[in-house]
Amino acid sequence: MQKTIQLRLKPAEAAHTPSLLLALAQSLGEPKESILGYHTLKQSIDARNRQQVWVNLSLLVFINEPPKPRFDSPIEFKALPINAKEVIIIGAGPAGLFAALECIEQGLRPIVLERGKDVRSRRRDLASLNKEGIVNPESNYCFGEGGAGTYSDGKLYTRSNKRGNIDKILRLFYQFGADENILYEAHPHIGTNKLPHIITAMREQIEAVGGKVLFGKKLTGLVIENGVLASITTADGDSFKTEALILATGHSARDIFHLLHDNGVTIEAKPFALGVRVEHPQAAIDAIQYHCALRDPNLPPASYSLVEQVQDRGVFSFCMCPGGIIAPAATAPGEIVVNGWSPSKRNNPYANSGMVVQIDIPTAYDFLKLHKHEAAQLDNPFLLLAFQQWVEQSAFEQGGGLQVAPAARLVDFCTNKISTNLPDASYLPGLHSADMKNILPPFVHRTLQEGFKAFGKKMRGYYSNDAIVVATESRTSSPVRIPRDEVTLAHPQVKNLYPCGEGAGYAGGIVSAAMDGQRLAVMIAQTLGK
Ligand SMILES: Cc1cc2nc3c(=O)[nH]c(=O)nc-3n(C[C@H](O)[C@H](O)[C@H](O)COP(=O)(O)OP(=O)(O)OC[C@H]3O[C@@H](n4cnc5c(N)ncnc54)[C@H](O)[C@@H]3O)c2cc1C
Repeated sequence: MQKTIQLRLKPAEAAHTPSLLLALAQSLGEPKESILGYHTLKQSIDARNRQQVWVNLSLLVFINEPPKPRFDSPIEFKALPINAKEVIIIGAGPAGLFAALECIEQGLRPIVLERGKDVRSRRRDLASLNKEGIVNPESNYCFGEGGAGTYSDGKLYTRSNKRGNIDKILRLFYQFGADENILYEAHPHIGTNKLPHIITAMREQIEAVGGKVLFGKKLTGLVIENGVLASITTADGDSFKTEALILATGHSARDIFHLLHDNGVTIEAKPFALGVRVEHPQAAIDAIQYHCALRDPNLPPASYSLVEQVQDRGVFSFCMCPGGIIAPAATAPGEIVVNGWSPSKRNNPYANSGMVVQIDIPTAYDFLKLHKHEAAQLDNPFLLLAFQQWVEQSAFEQGGGLQVAPAARLVDFCTNKISTNLPDASYLPGLHSADMKNILPPFVHRTLQEGFKAFGKKMRGYYSNDAIVVATESRTSSPVRIPRDEVTLAHPQVKNLYPCGEGAGYAGGIVSAAMDGQRLAVMIAQTLGK
């Protein structure tokens, strides 16, 4: 017999299998020996009660019957026939890789062209970025095998409610090597240390059945004939004919936006969010969220999610990384961009999070106009990109050289003081105490100041000079949208061109980018099938 059961346990009980089995037996009214196995279906932590933190579990229990594996069989990728139609995919990020896997399921041959390097070679460039502050514009935290997803935090949480697709994405991550807990935890997380192996396994699968993944292949030219994308060229002089091209180049491929615009392909300015990354000692966040002096070792490092409206402008936490590291995520020299990641164990002593403000078209326009910026035109598709670049370059100018990022203690930031010293922090290239109002546009600076004060009232202890604010968190999503037809999902002006993922403005994170890639592959299979 199989039964689904809900349990509410103390963290130590949930973490200890004999205690969990005992709780199951008691709850089911069955002898302990009759429980032959179980699968966790959902797991979440409820820390609302100040006296006791609870773990909520939903479990499928096998009573007097042997437990079945979670899945009957793995998702199968069959060898492609010699005459399989080709789909060119630009970019090996989550959107591109999941599009490639879906193409294979649909009987199409994916040819993935990636400007960066494979996971292993890419690691060396990240080391010199962190140690020496040298940015390789072709190989960094955003560019290379697995895209921005490889050395990301690997949180697999999305607000998208297309559960069917989400389950398939999680299942594929599991199939390629992620831990089983991503299938049931309320906020699944892989961790930066595990992602490279998973991404490599995906590539090996694509290649094993007849797909291709080519590195050092940077898209630089489009051949559009009578409104049809006929072929493309890459920086090394290669060219590829195409009947369908998925453009999944991510939000940092600014050259791609220019390439499209220069070829008369419409792109649009898109609102996005920008701000700073804030870092606290993890112990402080644990104490606030779990209402304790010291975290129960059976509980994970605590996280938070904050949102506030400051004079009609939203300010919110973004990509919170418990036990994490602040990373240099610039894609070109002369700019500073920060982001965050954490290892699977989340065992670093710091908790960091983006804290960002919504940027709309009129405000970006007013700001750039005031600064007599050449991009200041309301109908300019590069308006928000120019605003983003302005802030990133200001952060560089006010930083300590190379990738040494400008920073301030949190209370100093909110009270317009330059910090006389900075606490230890996770950001490896180093921090430089700076006047943040010289970096952030005034409305961003003010909104963040008010936001932080409001968050300090929601989480007592959050508003503290033990925390630091680092500039600038500016690549939250794309500042440009590449339009596509709602029915065909192709660009409305250019047949065969399928804008995809975060860079095109249809995703915000690993799971939604992956889902978008799958969706386009299915659509292309239908279209080519016709
Ligand atoms: C440090 C860090 C931490 C993050 N943490 C999380 C997290 O925990 N959870 C989450 O959901 N999201 C996270 N993100 C964001 C997430 O990685 C992105 O949302 C996601 O990777 C977007 O997927 P994508 O495939 O659309 O684009 P990308 O991942 O950006 O991939 C685009 C790819 O296209 C390639 N490319 C660009 N231009 C060209 C060209 N001209 N020719 C050929 N190839 C090209 C790039 O090299 C890149 O590999 C994080 C990002 C970073 C940087």
